[in-house]
Amino acid sequence: MQITFWGVRGSYPVPGAATVRYGGQTSCVEARSAKGECVIVDAGTGMRALGNKLMREATGPQRYNVLLSHVHWDHIQGLPFFSPAYVPGTRIAVHALLTAADELNSVIGGITRHEFFPMPLEAVPAVFDFHQVEPGVEFDLGPFHVIPIALNHPFGSVGYRLDCDGASWAYISDTAPFDQVIHKQHFLKGPEPLSADDKVSLDAMRQALVRRLDGVDTVVYDTHFLPEEYARFPHYGHSTPDQAIEICVEARVRRLVLYHHAPSHGDDQMDQIAATYLAKGAAAGIEVLTSFEGMTLPIGGEFDPPERTNPGVGPA
Ligand SMILES: [Zn+2]
Ligand SMILES: [Zn+2]
Repeated sequence: MQITFWGVRGSYPVPGAATVRYGGQTSCVEARSAKGECVIVDAGTGMRALGNKLMREATGPQRYNVLLSHVHWDHIQGLPFFSPAYVPGTRIAVHALLTAADELNSVIGGITRHEFFPMPLEAVPAVFDFHQVEPGVEFDLGPFHVIPIALNHPFGSVGYRLDCDGASWAYISDTAPFDQVIHKQHFLKGPEPLSADDKVSLDAMRQALVRRLDGVDTVVYDTHFLPEEYARFPHYGHSTPDQAIEICVEARVRRLVLYHHAPSHGDDQMDQIAATYLAKGAAAGIEVLTSFEGMTLPIGGEFDPPERTNPGVGPA
């Protein structure tokens, strides 16, 4: 199995001179089995270039599986621009944490309403299936075994552990650490004191995450904030690399990949973040890499650090 990063930003795309090396597209990762089966995790703007690559590879209409962490803009905005959706006979299964598949249908249909986009969802040639996921309820997509994991984010988010070819990786984005409840009110007003029930449910969420990540080869984690930024916005629903290292070390993860980079962090600052946390990770006994657009990582087995080559335009 291997994974490729097509978008590594959080919140909104930031193409431009300051983000050429790490990339400016929002969240999208492609997982590939050794036999070439594919699962797409999140559908941010990075999904557009992925769709173009899949079109070049395809010999005819295909079936695609898309796992969504949640439906904030930076995780779904690439979907209307995913070119295989315009090939008749294509089927696209979208899996997400919503109360019902018909609600997911209306969310995805909503972003292609005629006011926003020239072709409504019902007119798109591909057939879309919508599937609700629930934390802890495991399922299989071809050779991939998928475990959804509850995360701490406004209106909820779900991470995924994927096992395939005898190896495992996990996608943990978006999430705050587990010391306060993140929901709509907090986003508007800031954090509030925790009730005893809140503390119990947050502890359970954190324990379940650590248990699901136990022994995983590679974890891709929402590390949007530096510690000083997190101190100002603890209620926004994102983590720091230090918080991700703590969780991953506890879960005996081999390798942590920093992801969902803040749009304000340009290439030079990203270089500093990468160097700082490579060293902090080494001191804590874990390999810490920093994702960039176009990075491909083999999962499991021997590993050489990837070279950063022209990521600004996405993978070839
Ligand atoms: Zn996000
Ligand atoms: Zn979000």
